[in-house]
Amino acid sequence: MPRQSCALALAAICIGSGAFGAPMHLRRIADGVYEFQGAIALMDRANSGAIANLGVVIGNKGSAVIDTGGSVKEGRELLSAIRAISKKPVLYVINTHVHPDHIFGNAAFLGLGATFVGHANLPRAMAAQGPYYLKSFLPAMGHRLLADVKIVPPTLLVKDHRTLDLGGRKLALKTWAASHTDTDITIEDEKTKVLFAGDLLFVSHIPVIDNSLKGFILDTQRLQKQDARVVVPGHGPIPGDWHRAVADERHYFDVLQADLKASLQHGLGMRAAVRSAGSSQAHKWKLFDDYNKRNATTAYAELEWN
Ligand SMILES: [Zn+2]
Repeated sequence: MPRQSCALALAAICIGSGAFGAPMHLRRIADGVYEFQGAIALMDRANSGAIANLGVVIGNKGSAVIDTGGSVKEGRELLSAIRAISKKPVLYVINTHVHPDHIFGNAAFLGLGATFVGHANLPRAMAAQGPYYLKSFLPAMGHRLLADVKIVPPTLLVKDHRTLDLGGRKLALKTWAASHTDTDITIEDEKTKVLFAGDLLFVSHIPVIDNSLKGFILDTQRLQKQDARVVVPGHGPIPGDWHRAVADERHYFDVLQADLKASLQHGLGMRAAVRSAGSSQAHKWKLFDDYNKRNATTAYAELEWN
């Protein structure tokens, strides 16, 4: 839906409604730091793609948005929710990685003067995968939700570290090993020590390995060493004990790796190996059947050659 018609004719619907019919709720998790918690679900018409956790940090000069959601509809709802708590400009739109549930809302933030920020690999990944994502999510999301999605690449790139100044508070951005994807960054608000981990941390929602199991194991080791007070996962609730949550994620990876290595040692082919790998962990994670085989397939291919 064009933004103008939304603003003029359908304001009550577009601005007033969240993915499930209520306005988006931004929860204050620290001074000037807010989070929206997405549904633990696959992206579809009913949830408007609102399955990822989103963040907002507000400084004296303006705010930074951390991920924009799975549709422009959700991105607009996020913008409305920000407007309700701050009249300051949105200075930065940060994407934690390339996945559609984190970037499809970007177009809602065009034309505001905000700078789009992401991993140095993100422009390439968006160009390579963006058209595929738009096509592959069409059956589940429908044309109405996807018609106005634009793949908006970052212009401010993070190669290793980068600091963003929001006025009176700084955000520390870091890149990570290729793991969930090869475009993951984390964002820490230095003032409150809230760390937005993107999809390097999953809670309740089964971890998803889109790039490298070994890289993800390395990232969990590095995550454990972070000096954070609160860690916001990419999916699922903010854990009371984030070290424990990282350890739970790591345990799933360790079991998956051990199962696959045993299968490889016994000469089991990929199809047979991925049927059973990780299955002892099924009761611990939501959406297990939607992702475990895919994780096992990615990891099998990786372990087979290493
Ligand atoms: Zn993701």
